[in-house]
Amino acid sequence: MSTLFLRTLRDDPADAEVPSHKLLVRAGYVRRVAPGVYSWLPLGLRVLKAVEKVVREEMNSIGAQEILLPALLPREPYETTARWTEYGDNLFRVKDRKGTDMLLGPTHEEIFAQLVKSEYSSYKDLPVILYQIQTKYRDEERPRAGILRGREFVMKDSYSFDLDDDGLKASYIAHRDAYQRIFARLAVRYVIVAATSGAMGGSASEEFLAESEVGEDTFVRCLESGYAANVEAVITPAPEPIPFDGLGPAQVHETPDTTTIETLVEWANDTLDGTYDAADTLKNVMVKVREPGGDWELLGIGVLGNREVDVKRLEASLEPAEVELLTEADFAANPFLVKGYIGPKALAENGVRYLVDPRVVDGSAWITGADEPNRHVVGLVAGRDFTPDGTVEAAEILDGDLSPDGKGPLVAAKGIEIGHIFQLGQKYTNAFEVDVLGESGKPVRLTMGSYGVGVSRLVAVIAEQHHDDKGLRWPAEVAPYDVHLVIANKDEAAIGGATSLAEELDAEGLDVLLDDRKSSPGVKFKDAELLGMPVVVVVGRGYANGVVEVRDRFTGESTEVPIDDAVSAIVATVRQQR
Ligand code: ATP
Ligand code: MG
Repeated sequence: MSTLFLRTLRDDPADAEVPSHKLLVRAGYVRRVAPGVYSWLPLGLRVLKAVEKVVREEMNSIGAQEILLPALLPREPYETTARWTEYGDNLFRVKDRKGTDMLLGPTHEEIFAQLVKSEYSSYKDLPVILYQIQTKYRDEERPRAGILRGREFVMKDSYSFDLDDDGLKASYIAHRDAYQRIFARLAVRYVIVAATSGAMGGSASEEFLAESEVGEDTFVRCLESGYAANVEAVITPAPEPIPFDGLGPAQVHETPDTTTIETLVEWANDTLDGTYDAADTLKNVMVKVREPGGDWELLGIGVLGNREVDVKRLEASLEPAEVELLTEADFAANPFLVKGYIGPKALAENGVRYLVDPRVVDGSAWITGADEPNRHVVGLVAGRDFTPDGTVEAAEILDGDLSPDGKGPLVAAKGIEIGHIFQLGQKYTNAFEVDVLGESGKPVRLTMGSYGVGVSRLVAVIAEQHHDDKGLRWPAEVAPYDVHLVIANKDEAAIGGATSLAEELDAEGLDVLLDDRKSSPGVKFKDAELLGMPVVVVVGRGYANGVVEVRDRFTGESTEVPIDDAVSAIVATVRQQR
């Protein structure tokens, strides 16, 4: 450590909010260069490489073959699949000296599809799984929490190519199993949830979410059935349509000062027969959307008044279109939108697309805006008095909502996405016409899967799940060093003893970090806790009596061991942690 390129910090960095970010910076694992762009210092790089090693071993174990593609890519293939446009502002675009458009790869489906097309021509060559561990670039809108959400980050991405759906399913299951082994070895607590396929296209897809309070993904699960899904993927169970007969006509009422759902419900209970709650009202939220390459268009979203619009769910439903809330200027430009009193009528009359919550079935009656200040309409019946342009999964999911499988209530929790597996199907093989000659002599279009692991993000995730108020606490599989050996004794004999102990451990195949600095024992102990190696050995005052101290950073247990037994005791402790 006297020569190690490492400076630990006493204070948390000003820009850090989550524990992993604070600790990785304070412990000298990473340093910020620009927003979402980080350097890996010696200790951090060792963790990153250890994560890579686990990922690589498990990918190799399913027969996947490692290759390495460039990060600097031509525009054309991404034009072919429309992702040059669909990726929007997240794509890092560059121009070469001739003014030709290029990009920094955010993910590589296009290039892998082209590569397999160019190399393989017969059904005999398949199936094949190719992968790389490579630096990706995405101009994230909100780079966050250090390496958790970077604009430059390391991903393992793999791609399977199969002749048919059964083959694709087998490749998918092989990845799913490999991912479970990876995350178990990395000691990450996670759940597998149903996901939307997002901008990637295709159908079946699942996400691996590390359980964490600081996660940006919300998932729900049903404890009764084991159903688990990213909120973006939850399908609202729609009630049966209701017959129109027997429903009275819709009536417009004067409803002074009822711009909020709360005041509207109060008015209904005071004025109308019966009892009402927020779920009896239809709230119309205005947004604007833009399809890739298109213009901004107004869109009305009708949700039950007891729920907010969940922007992430809405965005996932409308992908690849972009979504924004309306500005004051937008309202001013569209005077038929009467804030607080927007109803389906004005939207229809002005040609504004209108999508509603799946609970708004034909025959359901609503209290909603009458498109004039201080007026609402009561008993407005869907399918009779207004006809939406379709349904949309936009409403927030509430704790206690019925699980889509009908087996019990949903509970919500937060997670960080660490892996994602997709059965893409033929979206990319169609785009590039990736065919081989089939057994029957006819061409066969290949079907494709794509699978990602956030390698650099995992370093932060592990730190997030394994730390205490003193510092990091690495699981054995990824710790930068197996043993942190602290010399806490100025005596020449002790220093000599510690140095030869380090050499003996090294000869046993352990990686040893030797704190041979001149600093005080207190400083050294604090650093040992902050840096987080799984076993800390202290050669201190006890050395004169023939003992060293062995501390388990995970359990906090500390034992005194005779010097003669030290090597075998330490080796045993390290092995046990693995
Ligand atoms: P997120 O929803 O977190 O933005 P994503 O859906 O964009 O993730 P994928 O495109 O599926 O992610 O990428 C595969 C994996 O790469 C993710 O599961 C995640 O672990 C990792 N990853 C994605 N974006 C980032 C990023 N900006 N920084 C670090 N890791 C990332
Ligand atoms: Mg993303």
